[in-house]
Amino acid sequence: MFTSAGHLTHRESLLIRHGQNQECFTCLIEILEDANISMVQREMCLSFLKSVVDENETFLQVLPSYRLECCNIICVLTDMYTEDPHKLTAALLCASMIDKLQDEHLYEIFMDKFQDVVLSRLVEKHSQFYFIVLSKLCEFSKTYSQMIVSFHGNIILTVLEAHHCFDEDTLSWLVSLLKLLIPILCSNCGLLKEGSDLFLWKILEVLVVWMNTVHSSELQVNILFLLRECLQSEEMISGLLLIGSEGSVDCSLLMGLKRILASKNSMIIVPGTQCLTLLMEKLTEPALVKEVLDTDLAEIVFEFLHSTIPSQLESTFQCLQAMVQHQYFFEKCHAVYGLDSILKSIKDALDTGKTIILIKGLELLTSLLVRQPESMPLFMNQSWNFCITLLHTAVQYETPAVFVKALKAVEQFMRPQHQQTPLAVRSITSLLSTVYYYYEHHLKSLTQSGQGQQAYHMTSSIINIVVSTYR
Ligand SMILES: [Zn+2]
Repeated sequence: MFTSAGHLTHRESLLIRHGQNQECFTCLIEILEDANISMVQREMCLSFLKSVVDENETFLQVLPSYRLECCNIICVLTDMYTEDPHKLTAALLCASMIDKLQDEHLYEIFMDKFQDVVLSRLVEKHSQFYFIVLSKLCEFSKTYSQMIVSFHGNIILTVLEAHHCFDEDTLSWLVSLLKLLIPILCSNCGLLKEGSDLFLWKILEVLVVWMNTVHSSELQVNILFLLRECLQSEEMISGLLLIGSEGSVDCSLLMGLKRILASKNSMIIVPGTQCLTLLMEKLTEPALVKEVLDTDLAEIVFEFLHSTIPSQLESTFQCLQAMVQHQYFFEKCHAVYGLDSILKSIKDALDTGKTIILIKGLELLTSLLVRQPESMPLFMNQSWNFCITLLHTAVQYETPAVFVKALKAVEQFMRPQHQQTPLAVRSITSLLSTVYYYYEHHLKSLTQSGQGQQAYHMTSSIINIVVSTYR
């Protein structure tokens, strides 16, 4: 049991029984306040209190009657622990206390302390503690995000003005906090709207700066998560694209995105391609689409197909699928450039039996075959041979869903625009006879199991293939 020298008799009502231990609440507070206490004891005290506040229901029920003591703890933590080696535990304890007590007064004390720090010259040293507490609170409940946006936006704005002085560790916590504020700022519910534009704009501005400057991959990933929250409407995206378009050339959203994606760090592939997918899905303005596709982002994404991790491949395929919805993608010859990478990852998926990846790959291939302009040949001789061999193997895949997707691809592949001269009659005949063989095989099992719809789609594909072949 921890015993403070200043506390001679422990009051029974203030004893905390937790697990194997029994501690005196007053003693714990006195120990935390004691600047001469050893590091080890300090850490044990903090951890004990944190687990009590997080887990001990019995104690939580009596805690509200010790409101003064709780306010005292918040003051001690913010006064003494913002630079402590155990500041993470201290910050987590602080967040849990504010949240569990459901007493707005504690939150106000905390925000007043934060305001003092922000207005002082000590913002650089002490802010991390506050960012941890606030991002945890916003994680606990949206109410805190709403309170910050409605009443303390000015504090966050001042912090953002000073963003240059934070190290990357501190920035990472700030980014986690902003990520939780963005949805509130974007939701246009009455009260919040006023003033939130300036706030939102400032966040977008620093976000673009960070994308162009930060180094650690953990922070880059976190920034991509923040960006993903910001890419929810075309309005937000066009705002983001405007930043840095005048003035310094090397600091724009697209430059930053390219910089992060080009690191090819495997951690950034999923969030990075998700951001790019949103960008491509939300943009309709041709000039903006052109601006994005004029960068070599597509080339970088094609390189992500060399991964073997299913989640990375899946989100890369999804990203490319969003890109090929824009005709400008084809005008930039991106399809011709990336075709081989796509065919290769379809082959890998076939070889390793990754059905979901295989389906996504075949869908993407079909989109290319549909949308490639007639004036620009998609295939070179070698890739045409590779493609027909792949399709030949794909139609023999046991899963009916894969067969249906492969059939769709064959249907588009057989169109005259994709044929070589002279016509490779032997390969085509062999593919078609395999297709018919498996068509009958799947048709039987699909009709027997009552999946008439799929059987119907299959049959209509077959008819289209026949029509293409006769041309
Ligand atoms: Zn005591």
